[in-house]
This record gives sequence, C-alpha cells and structure tokens, in this order.
Amino acid sequence: MADAVVVGSGPNGLAAAVILARAGLEVQVYEASDAIGGGCRTGEVTLPGFRHDLCAGAHPMAVASPFFRAFDLAAHGVELLAPQVSYAHPLDGGRAGLAWRDLEQTAAGLGRDGGSWRRLFGPLVRDWEDLVALGMSDLRHPPLDPMVGVRFARRLAEQSTPLWNLRFREELAPALLTGIAAHAIRPPRGIPGAGVAMLLGTLAHVRGWPVPKGGSQAISDALAADLRRHGGRISTGHRIDSIDEFGDVRAVLLDLAPAELQRIAADRLPGRYSRALANFRYGGAACKVDFALSGPVPWQARGCERAGTLHLVGARAEAVAAEKAVAAGQHADRPYVLAIQPGVVDPTRAPAGQHTFYTYAHVPNGSTRDMTEAITAQVERFAPGFRDLVLATHVQTAATMPAHNANYIGGDISAGAMTLRQTVFRPAARWNPYRTPIPGVYLCSSATPPGPGVHGMNGYYAARHALRREFGVHTDPLELLGSHPGGSGLD
Ligand SMILES: Cc1cc2nc3c(=O)[nH]c(=O)nc-3n(C[C@H](O)[C@H](O)[C@H](O)COP(=O)(O)OP(=O)(O)OC[C@H]3O[C@@H](n4cnc5c(N)ncnc54)[C@H](O)[C@@H]3O)c2cc1C
Repeated sequence: MADAVVVGSGPNGLAAAVILARAGLEVQVYEASDAIGGGCRTGEVTLPGFRHDLCAGAHPMAVASPFFRAFDLAAHGVELLAPQVSYAHPLDGGRAGLAWRDLEQTAAGLGRDGGSWRRLFGPLVRDWEDLVALGMSDLRHPPLDPMVGVRFARRLAEQSTPLWNLRFREELAPALLTGIAAHAIRPPRGIPGAGVAMLLGTLAHVRGWPVPKGGSQAISDALAADLRRHGGRISTGHRIDSIDEFGDVRAVLLDLAPAELQRIAADRLPGRYSRALANFRYGGAACKVDFALSGPVPWQARGCERAGTLHLVGARAEAVAAEKAVAAGQHADRPYVLAIQPGVVDPTRAPAGQHTFYTYAHVPNGSTRDMTEAITAQVERFAPGFRDLVLATHVQTAATMPAHNANYIGGDISAGAMTLRQTVFRPAARWNPYRTPIPGVYLCSSATPPGPGVHGMNGYYAARHALRREFGVHTDPLELLGSHPGGSGLD
C-alpha cells in the first residue's frame, strides 16, 4: 500500500507526486488517459512527423515558477527555447505590436505610447521575482515586499476600469495589452484579466514566453522520470471512480476539477462543501485547431515571423467585443484566436522546411462548433496566403475536450471560470483551499490558487500541506527539490 496517492498526472499532479516522493514517501499516481501529462502533452495528431502541443504550448509560467525553478528543468534535460518576440498582436493594414524580450526594444516600436509602456512594465520587470511570488502565491499570504503589492494593485485598478483607455494614445499598445488580458477568457477589462496581463506581460520582458524543444510533453516526461527515480509509480488508463478505492492511504491528492471531486466523493462530502462545489462556475472555453503547414506563416506585419505567440483579433475594441460575445454565450463573428508557431525556435516539431501551427479560438462553454474556418479566416486576415500552406488540420471542439481530460468541463481550459471571486476562493470560500473536508484528501489541481497554467504551484502548495499535516514533515518542498533558484531551463 502506497503512503500517498495522486489522482491525475497533469503538471500539478506530477509536481505534487515528485515532492512527496522526494520526501521519502511511496507514491502511486493514477491517470485516466493512456498518456501522462494532462494539459501538458504533445502528439502527432495531423501528419507523421508533425508534433503538436495538445493543450499548453507556451511556458512563461513554467520558466518563472518557484516550483520549476527549484526543480530545474534544464538539469532534467528540458530545453526551453525563448523566441525574440514573446508575443505579437497584428492589426489590419500590416502593422503589429511586438512584445520583445527586451523592454526598451518593445517601447521603441510603440510610437507615442512607448514611454507609457515602459512606465507600466518597467518597475514590475525590475521586481519580477516579487511579482511572481505574489502572482503564484496561494493568495492567502501577503507578498514579500509590500511596495510590490502596492505597485501591482495600482496597475490592477487602472487596467480594470475605464481608466485603462487613458494611458495610451495609439492603437498598438492597448491592443497588445488586451491580447494578454484575454487569456483569462473573460471580458478583458476586469481584475482577473488585468492580473493576467500584468503577470504574463512582465514575464514577456524577463524570461520570455518559451516553448520546450520537442514539445510540452518534455516537461511532463521530465517530472515523471524524476518521480520514478524516487520510487514513484504511474498507472495510466486507470480512471478513479470512487475515493473509497484508497482504503487506508494516508494522503490522497486529487489533480481534479471540483465536478470530478464531487463525482468520485459525493457521499463523503459534507453538505456545505458539496454545495460550494456545485455552485462553482465553469467559464469560457476553447476550440483547439492544429495545423500542419508546408511553410512558415506569411505574416503581413514585420516582426510577427519572430514571435512565438500571437493574438489574432484586431484592435482593443474588437477584442473586447469578441470576449463579451463569448461571455454572453455567443460565438464571435471574428473570434479571439491565440496562435503559437513553435518552429520559430524549434525545428524539431515538423519535417524540414515545414511547420506546426497551434491555434485555439475562444468559444462559449460547451460549444460544439468546429472553429477551423473561423480561425483560418482570422489568420488569413493578418497573413494572406496562409490557407494555401495548410497540409492537414486537427480539431478538438470545446464539447469534446472533457472526453480527453475530465478537468476541462465544457472546454473550460482553466478548470473553472476566472472570476474575481473564483480566483481567490477556488474552489470554495476556505482559508485552506487545498484541504478538503475528507481527512487526508487534498485538491492539487488548477481549480485551487493560484489558478491555471503550467507552473506546478497548486501541486506544490497541496503537497506542502499534506506533508505537514499527514506526515509531520515541515521542510519546505522547494528544499526537497534541491533548490536551484537560478535554474530555469532557459537556453
Ligand atoms: C487548449 C489548452 C491550451 C492551454 N495553453 C496553455 C499555455 O500555453 N500555457 C500554460 O501555461 N497553460 C496552458 N493551458 C493550461 C494548462 O494546461 C493547465 O492549467 C494545466 O495543465 C493544469 O494542470 P493540472 O495538473 O491542474 O490539470 P491537468 O493538466 O488538466 O491534468 C489533470 C489530469 O487528471 C486526469 N484525470 C481527470 N479525472 C481523472 C480520474 N477520475 N481518474 C484519473 N485521472 C483523472 C486527466 O486525464 C488529466 O491528465 C492550456 C490548457 C488547454 C486545455
């Protein structure tokens, strides 16, 4: 019998499992799918030799997260390749906002708004580690440096109110910012969107938005290899249907959405907590379309060919309208499309001269619509001739996502709407969101703070609580990882 069981092998499940195994516990992971990795997987879903990231594709969070920096991805053979342009935002007429790794270079390309951009991000870039400590915290403990909190709060207040239009005078800078705020899949002018924009926007100018050589699977494989080296076991193709399967196991960590927790533990959960889980809301969704291309995307705007990630939707007003439509349960005529072109830095993703192209469009939760044509039209709008390069496509609609990963209810890739309330009280209003009312059972998925993304921090916090409470281990798990704070895996 294992000391600890982890259900689900997403980045948080594996992060928790690695920590527990390194603490000397016998750890067993159960994964419903035939492959490990959850939202951090890669597969040849179009043509042979084209390796597509099936969920997460760009990794600003992994390269900055305290968990992954201590784990040291580079030491585990993961090469994180950061494009010169972290993200780009093309507009009609052949112009584009470019977020270079270098803040000054970015400001120089933003015309009269360059100074405003520098003033917005400069202080955050300087104190980026404190910002990460705050943004990737359990949202229960104040940041190390209160001034960082104040600076962050001031920017949140500005970017989540009508004041957000006062800072900029031209079109490129506000479009760039709105493109990242929309990652929250919510109307971008709000505190959650502004928080995402400040964190990801800052990281763009620090360690960049890298892609792993060979695909995101490399991150999951590195975690799994480390787990096995420390005696842990992983059983794939093993869906857990009841929490009672684990008998006397001292700690059970669930890398699950609240709905899945309810499904497997319904009769063990007290009414109040159960009702909170039932009231947990799932949010806007994604329809993922992967393309195999015969050549690079022919972007009209200069600089886009150097970008790892692109936000394709047009100016700020268009992005806002598209996200409002999704929030209202409608499909936008011209949807917000997030695209990643890993071939900019990683030639191993496709046969020589050819490319993989990663996209998803925001759609209402549960949407059954195949967005291939709408996405193609948005790309073609900024890259005429794109259509002629398409060799093959693969689509995953929002409605079909849960069949591959039960955490993505209705295609909600955040495992729960990123409203202000659900950012803090995730999945329920409790001081310790990781402990469930069932003794020894913890939630470690992105349905806990600090929310979605491949950063492993939800797994880290849940494992830390389980170690302390169930096993009396008070060592900080980052020390168990042999803490190498500088080790980012970055090339
Ligand atoms: C399309 C898409 C694009 C994304 N893009 C990015 C990106 O570019 N960058 C980024 O940082 N993040 C991105 N994300 C978000 C990121 O992938 C997730 O936030 C992250 O994977 C969450 O990790 P997790 O471990 O909490 O859960 P998951 O990765 O979702 O893993 C949960 C695991 O639990 C398993 N499971 C569920 N139920 C059971 C059960 N009953 N029994 C056994 N196993 C079970 C699932 O099969 C799955 O493997 C994206 C997500 C999606 C879907």
